[in-house]
Amino acid sequence: MIRNLDWLQQAACAGLDHRAFFATSRHARAQVNAARRVCAACPVREQCATWAIQTGERWGVWGGMSQQELRRRRRRFTSRAKTSTRAAA
Ligand code: SF4
Repeated sequence: MIRNLDWLQQAACAGLDHRAFFATSRHARAQVNAARRVCAACPVREQCATWAIQTGERWGVWGGMSQQELRRRRRRFTSRAKTSTRAAA
């Protein structure tokens, strides 16, 4: 579990309006794509994605992933965690 949030200081979105990462309008696709372009240049994309998965974030663009992509990655993460827990038992 990521507990240290120092990586946020390197975030490409630091100082930007975070509402840009939470699409709500009928232009949601364009908003998500714009947010993903910011994430594409972010040096802490992996930490961001991991944090979002581990904390159960359900809304917004995290680590360059749309909500749907984040959901899929969370399912894979959860599935792997269950498998390794069973293997360890
Ligand atoms: S990956 Fe995107 S949302 Fe995450 S810290 Fe970087 S710019 Fe912000």
